[in-house]
Amino acid sequence: MRPDRQQLIRTLFDEYIEMYSSRDDRLTCRFSHNFSGYAGSSDVLVTDREEWIRITRQDFAQVPDRINIEMLDLSLQDLTEQIVVVTAFFHIHLPIPKPILSHETARLVLIFHLENNCWMIAHSGISIPYGLAHKGEIYPITRLEKRNSELESMITARTSELAAANRQLEILSNTDGLTNIGNRRQFDLMLQTEWNRGLHSHSLLALIMLDIDHFKQFNDHYGHLAGDDCLKQLASTLSQSGRRAGELVARYGGEEFVILLPNIDKQTLFGAAQHIHQLIQSIAIPHAKTDLGIVTVSVGVAYLSPSNQQNPLELVRQADAALYRAKLAGRNCIRFMDER
Ligand code: GH3
Ligand code: MG
Ligand code: MG
Repeated sequence: MRPDRQQLIRTLFDEYIEMYSSRDDRLTCRFSHNFSGYAGSSDVLVTDREEWIRITRQDFAQVPDRINIEMLDLSLQDLTEQIVVVTAFFHIHLPIPKPILSHETARLVLIFHLENNCWMIAHSGISIPYGLAHKGEIYPITRLEKRNSELESMITARTSELAAANRQLEILSNTDGLTNIGNRRQFDLMLQTEWNRGLHSHSLLALIMLDIDHFKQFNDHYGHLAGDDCLKQLASTLSQSGRRAGELVARYGGEEFVILLPNIDKQTLFGAAQHIHQLIQSIAIPHAKTDLGIVTVSVGVAYLSPSNQQNPLELVRQADAALYRAKLAGRNCIRFMDER
């Protein structure tokens, strides 16, 4: 190509790009009356100059600030004396806040036609490979914004579903499957928590440990399913027995239950242990193999003022030892720590 033609085509293209980048409305005066063009990823050929001007103005209104064009490849063609063609590949950096919308790769074909000594744009085909631009849009901003907000609300919904599932899991992992009260895991966690609290408050932390008397014989006599029902009934009685706030009722293991009582005085604790012991007798679940003919429990009670010299398991050891003495003493009774 002759250097002067090459220079001419390059100048025409640079002018176009400058007007396009700076959102200069004077660009619209450069469209030929016989103009045709494709916008964005639209497959509709626009043959109406006025329609093309409307699309251009809408594009300028959507992104009013200067845009940055980063040229990747440029080819110039000299078709006839009156017709020249430019094909360009470039990145368009849109100065808009959402990053997913701010970077497009586009291909542009421009045909310039010499009309009355003036080079007019006879054809413009800009294509952005998304397949998302609406008719009359160069950038698929509307679609991408919609998609973006759909994705955001999907993420929000999933996040709260996950949080709910995690809360449910947390509850399940702390609950005994048979009796629906706290399980051993929850007891261990609460024991440590209350122990730490007691280290600061210097208050007593108490533990009541109950074990059903002759429960093996209950199972042998009435069957395991009846045994399960008995455990459920006891658990629900214990958890509904007017416990003070902060107390935890849990199934410690097989037919053993624990009640953790933070911040309590001895008097209240003794009263609570007796109340629980009697409460279980009062529901009077038949048990043919005990002296009273009903289900009874043996109870061990321990209390400590948490200190760094001791370990929270000391409370469990002491309650267990007291419970053992209650069994030795003939069952269906309460034994306290430090008491023979
Ligand atoms: P003691 O008065 O000395 O406590 O005698 P016991 O028979 O209650 O004690 P032992 O430890 O010998 O037996 C406990 C029984 O508790 C044995 C076991 O089958 C029963 N058990 C433990 N967990 C469950 C359960 O989930 N369901 C049923 N039905 N029985 C259970
Ligand atoms: Mg036992
Ligand atoms: Mg037992």
